[in-house]
Amino acid sequence: METKEFREAAHQLVDWMADYMENTGKYNVRPLLRPGDIKNQLPTSAPLEGEAFTKLFDDFNSIIMPGMTHWQHPQFFAYFPTGASGPSVLAEMLSSTLGAQCMIWLTSPAAEELEERMMEWLRDMLGLHSSFTGVIQDSSSSATLVSLLTARENFSSYQINQKGFDDTQRFRIYTSAQAHSSVDKDVKIAGFGIDNLVKINVDENFAMKSEDLRDAIEKDSKLGYTPLCVVSTIGSTSSTAIDPIAAIAKICLEYKCWHHIDASYAGTALLLPEMRWMSEGAELADSFVVNPHKWMFTNFDCSAYFVKDKNALIRTFSILPEYLKTPEDHLVNNYRDWGIPLGRRFRSLKLWFVIRSYGIKGLQDKIRLHIQFGQWLKEKVASSKHFELLAPVPLNLICFRYKPDGIVDEKKLEEINSNLLNTLNSSGKILLTQTKLNGKYAIRFVGGSERTTLKDIQQGWSLVEETARGII
Ligand SMILES: *Cc1c(COP(=O)(O)O)cnc(C)c1O
Repeated sequence: METKEFREAAHQLVDWMADYMENTGKYNVRPLLRPGDIKNQLPTSAPLEGEAFTKLFDDFNSIIMPGMTHWQHPQFFAYFPTGASGPSVLAEMLSSTLGAQCMIWLTSPAAEELEERMMEWLRDMLGLHSSFTGVIQDSSSSATLVSLLTARENFSSYQINQKGFDDTQRFRIYTSAQAHSSVDKDVKIAGFGIDNLVKINVDENFAMKSEDLRDAIEKDSKLGYTPLCVVSTIGSTSSTAIDPIAAIAKICLEYKCWHHIDASYAGTALLLPEMRWMSEGAELADSFVVNPHKWMFTNFDCSAYFVKDKNALIRTFSILPEYLKTPEDHLVNNYRDWGIPLGRRFRSLKLWFVIRSYGIKGLQDKIRLHIQFGQWLKEKVASSKHFELLAPVPLNLICFRYKPDGIVDEKKLEEINSNLLNTLNSSGKILLTQTKLNGKYAIRFVGGSERTTLKDIQQGWSLVEETARGII
């Protein structure tokens, strides 16, 4: 592509992007189509001759856009939000234009040094202890894997990296029954075997029972297992349940267990001093992960991973082939040694743009507003005769179900609520997801997109009430 053509096309795209941001709410939140509808419009083989950009862009508009789910829609209330604020998008434009591979200091000193500084800013903004050092990972799933591998190597004096597992190593990993599925996946990948992941029971708030954790560790120790690591959660995916971090930290110290904290979503709320009770005891943990790419208005991917002992991390992952040696190695961070992939995107740039554009205050205002949305919804559900709240609402996620008069059969309630969810989602006006809590089918409603207003939440809730009335 000639620069002249690029310039024209890019100007056109920027206008498209700004229009999209203004009008996201006018789309159906999710496309109403069948599997295969998009694929069937795409030729089965690649073109031999190059095609004009105008043609590509036409096809983008006519084929791709109708198949998109609009995560930035103000009435996207599903999963957890994923940020894409203006400043973050602008940074991604620059980063992709620079096309730099930021694997070591020399491959872009600015990227490395900005990342160092951004991780310090973020650590301090979230009130994490100054003994933590941060690095950006692609996702929380990777960060948790990195943590498990570091725990493994640290414990085995780096011998499993060298020789592989031997028969005497019977490690146990502990997490709550409400932990994210990435913990299961990471335990498998790290070679521990899923049978060695012990799921600890939760209390009535869906938080880990720390006394049960202690009992499980005691029991395993007696059976000859090595209790290696506890993964605790600040803000579970199902219901934003908050594990008792201080109590867990104490147990980890006592039994010399590694402690990793998964605060992927809710960690952003630590921007608010009034929410710091959630992380009490986190200063004793070995590692901590939070995803700015969820609630901090930063495009996917950007997962901030903080560790106490950066040398253990580096020793677990370092490689030094001749072609990657540089004279500055002893003076700088070479982030290729801080995680799994060698190549790294320039991700600190978007964090810099986002933090400076909003300021700490601007970010705090948004998060506070979103928590108010959650509390508003909680009141609505709590005061309604026909709906039932199924979990506490510490932040902005509510888990509820429709419970019409006289219906108590669990199966029937599940059927009614799954029907309600499908009807709502098929309207294209709103998008929600479901979970199971204590065996009960629950609808999740989380409002945390940048462009969501209280009015959107109110409209969304009215639609839920209206649709429920039509169901039974
Ligand atoms: C979203 C989420 C994850 C997974 O995050 P990725 O960055 O997509 O891997 C892990 N844990 C919790 C608690 C989450 O909410």
